[in-house]
Amino acid sequence: MNQTINDSGDELFAFDNTYARELEGFYVPWKAAQVARPRMIKFNHQLAEELGLDADALDSDAGARIFAGNETPEGAVPLAQAYAGHQFGGFVPQLGDGRALLIGEVIDRYGRRRDIQLKGSGPTPFSRAGDGRAALGPVLREYLIGEAMHALGIPTTRALAAVVTGEPVYRERALPGAVLTRVAASHVRVGTFQFFAVRGEQAKVRQLADYVIDRHYPELKGQANPYLGLLERVCDKQAALVAGWMHVGFIHGVMNTDNMTISGETIDYGPCAFMDHYDPATVFSSIDTQGRYAYANQPRIAQWNLARLAETLLPLIDEDTNRAIARATEVVNAFSGRYESYWVKGMRAKLGLFIEEEADLNLATEFLTAMEGNGVDYTLAFRYLADAALGEHERIRSLFADPSAYDRWSGHWRARLSREAVAQSDRAPAMLRANPAFIPRNHRVEEALSAAVEEGDYAPFETLLKILARPFDDQPEFAAYAEPPPEGQSHYRTF
Ligand code: AMP
Ligand code: MG
Repeated sequence: MNQTINDSGDELFAFDNTYARELEGFYVPWKAAQVARPRMIKFNHQLAEELGLDADALDSDAGARIFAGNETPEGAVPLAQAYAGHQFGGFVPQLGDGRALLIGEVIDRYGRRRDIQLKGSGPTPFSRAGDGRAALGPVLREYLIGEAMHALGIPTTRALAAVVTGEPVYRERALPGAVLTRVAASHVRVGTFQFFAVRGEQAKVRQLADYVIDRHYPELKGQANPYLGLLERVCDKQAALVAGWMHVGFIHGVMNTDNMTISGETIDYGPCAFMDHYDPATVFSSIDTQGRYAYANQPRIAQWNLARLAETLLPLIDEDTNRAIARATEVVNAFSGRYESYWVKGMRAKLGLFIEEEADLNLATEFLTAMEGNGVDYTLAFRYLADAALGEHERIRSLFADPSAYDRWSGHWRARLSREAVAQSDRAPAMLRANPAFIPRNHRVEEALSAAVEEGDYAPFETLLKILARPFDDQPEFAAYAEPPPEGQSHYRTF
């Protein structure tokens, strides 16, 4: 029998599960594994309130049972979603939720529909060789980085809860098991379309397209060609998203088509990491041996993934295949221009430029070129540029192994600034709002995770989470967290 966990008898979640209801055949109804001793590690009160949930009731042992999957709250319809995907360029026709369950959808305080998903909740029919579990370290990592991305203003799935299961999971060694509760605008991916397209299930592709139009892009309904419109909207969202990543030095690490959302949120914080010193070839993931998902490749890879989405939509775009290809190709090709305009727009803000000039793209690119090979910390260089706008160049110069590269560039930059009638007192604060002081530095993330996993000490995780919630504020008491890794710790690797 289901225990009710609140005395009032109210439902804890006002679930309204459209995916379960409208998309039969797109998932397998499934139950989470029971775990030994669920315990709440971290509950996101602010997000819970945004979702209209009773945060105090859920940040409890009863909440831990729910977010470990031991208890199914009233109204939940747990299910594993089907999807396919190109992984490192190779197509896998069946992936699917091998260790995750969508438990339901709620409407948040702003009227937005949000998925609530358990990740690490046990094997499903999609697990293949996997154990369906998640280890504590990666769960905390996803929690930290997702929340950091949110605070940086980048669209992302978010973490509602992290629980430990009281059971080990076996990787290279035994590690504490954990479950992450993930909140997303939806979990529909490019790979969800691919799953049905590759099976020739055209009606299902159409049904899915109609579903996502309804859910994410309702403005397309009633347009002459809503499916072409859908492709265009997803291209636009992804162009904005990847530009946002590039602005903060984020490297996703595993931009497979199953890890690209239709909503335009960042998803799956596995081997991701933030760049310290600027190097366009930066790769952190040890599985990305070819550097396919290196920092500078990300826009191109996004476009490649969008071409895969386009392929699935061709029959919907036009009955005439050649015409469909021509129209879809035009949209996918336009990605580069869209991306570039989002990128330049963000770079203008980072460089303190208020008006638009044609040559701004070059100015921004030349700043990066000046950094390259010079051991310059990407985040600090932009942060210190606000001082430089006030005539204080020493801090930023000191980041460059060869400061003359900065001096040459800053001459052009200052000439450009002088063409704007903007008070310096307005410019510097605006720049500080565009250039974070704090990113999840790899060595700090590792420090926090290892204290939690090895010693059960969550204090460093809590501290880091708190700092990263206000990335644009100086927080002098935490100045050390803005610093790059100490010498010798800069060759970071993720898995
Ligand atoms: P990811 O690399 O996390 O995007 O996952 C790619 C695919 O592998 C998805 O189908 C996942 O559900 C599946 N997967 C990843 N880890 C596991 C695991 N431990 N057990 C079962 N399936 C997994
Ligand atoms: Mg994934």
